[in-house]
Amino acid sequence: MMKGDFPVGEFAGRKTPFYFYDLPLLERTLDAVRSAIGNRPLWQVHYAVKANANPEILRRIAAAGFGADCVSGGEVRMAYEAGFAPSAIVYAGVGKSDDEITYALELGIGRFNVESSAELLVIEEIAAKLGKVAPVSFRVNPDIGAHTHANITTGLAENKFGIFHEALPEVIRLAQGCPHIAYKGLHFHIGSQILDMSDFVALCNRINDLTARLERLRLPVGDLNVGGGLGINYEHPNHLPIADFKAYFDTFKRHLHLRPGQALHFELGRSLVAPCGTLICRVLYVKQGTTRQFAIVDGSMTELIRPALYHAYHRIENLTSNEPEQLYDVVGPVCESSDVFAKGVSLDACRRGDFIAIRSAGAYGESMASTYNGRPLPGAFFFE
Ligand SMILES: *Cc1c(COP(=O)(O)O)cnc(C)c1O
Repeated sequence: MMKGDFPVGEFAGRKTPFYFYDLPLLERTLDAVRSAIGNRPLWQVHYAVKANANPEILRRIAAAGFGADCVSGGEVRMAYEAGFAPSAIVYAGVGKSDDEITYALELGIGRFNVESSAELLVIEEIAAKLGKVAPVSFRVNPDIGAHTHANITTGLAENKFGIFHEALPEVIRLAQGCPHIAYKGLHFHIGSQILDMSDFVALCNRINDLTARLERLRLPVGDLNVGGGLGINYEHPNHLPIADFKAYFDTFKRHLHLRPGQALHFELGRSLVAPCGTLICRVLYVKQGTTRQFAIVDGSMTELIRPALYHAYHRIENLTSNEPEQLYDVVGPVCESSDVFAKGVSLDACRRGDFIAIRSAGAYGESMASTYNGRPLPGAFFFE
């Protein structure tokens, strides 16, 4: 959606800041995923709920036939309530509590992505008590670095996630000895906002090696889940609003040696929802500093923490003004020096009351919102 397409007339009287969700773009994105996969019934995408757990967004993604990838019992519940079938819900996380495991077992979720042998034994014990069999995949730490921000790599040996790949034969044998565990496959996830397909090629090569090793040991591999992590273009939300799903799926088609009948699962989060979300706020004050000009807006790091947390870039537009551009530091009201959306950006001249759009904020925006400084959680506007 270009600047002029935002329905600014409908924003008047709404409490800012709020999230604006472009639902037609979400639908086009989900269509693009389906067409990039093509006719491969064994390939399935589970949406990573943590990227955006807004109930309306979840409902749309469930209705489009995707599964859900959850990282807590709360997310499993939100996914179930939004209409995802329990069998289409997978659950990862290094620290699943007994209550969370019990809830997920009782609901009958499709898969536990297990991250340690200690966790496996706890699931076995709880499943035995409930008289259930838990479907389990092992999350493998493939020891692969992705070319992305250090805080969002997850597949290195030094990260807390997964079972180190060399320990895998041992834990598969352990699972085979557990009567209330059904071993189903392997799970991986190497990081987020990955745009360099060679990172996914490295993952495919690692999986191919691991598969060959397990087969030599006559151990089952089962199905494969390669996680998520596909990045989007934050610089050009108007011209490149849909992630390059074709390049992504083609990478796995070309480099992953699947066995006949072997299912392949993906867990895309950011790439499905980031582009359709925009944080809308208003200019409170324009302030001249000694060396810089500030546009102080009513949105902050409590609605969108990515710039403060990762120095993430979001394109910013003034939806109200068409006056000649000036340079601004766009900052929020929260009492933290890191409460800055951008420094030295060029915006159409700002005045008090102008609507400001912070683009590509549909992923890790609303889902990470907090009430720090006593701020209310942001509302949502669904553009149909
Ligand atoms: C966060 C996460 C994802 C999704 O990552 P994106 O970069 O948003 O695609 C997928 N799988 C797991 C296990 C995750 O923790």
